[in-house]
Amino acid sequence: MVKITIDHDNCDGADCAECVDVCPMEVLILEGDKIVVQNKEDCSLCEVCMDVCPNEAIKVEDE
Ligand code: SF4
Repeated sequence: MVKITIDHDNCDGADCAECVDVCPMEVLILEGDKIVVQNKEDCSLCEVCMDVCPNEAIKVEDE
């Protein structure tokens, strides 16, 4: 099971959205100005979103 945690206190949302742009599986989407996880089961655990986030606001874990 993949666990994706977004720390919204540190996430810049629509002002950044780098993770939304890079996710190859379209797991992350912008809803208003907030990043949300839509189809977690499609996540390939590539961790690209974690790599591009300037605030370390997203965490992807395999549990
Ligand atoms: S780990 Fe990869 S597939 Fe999963 S949400 Fe992040 S960018 Fe998308």
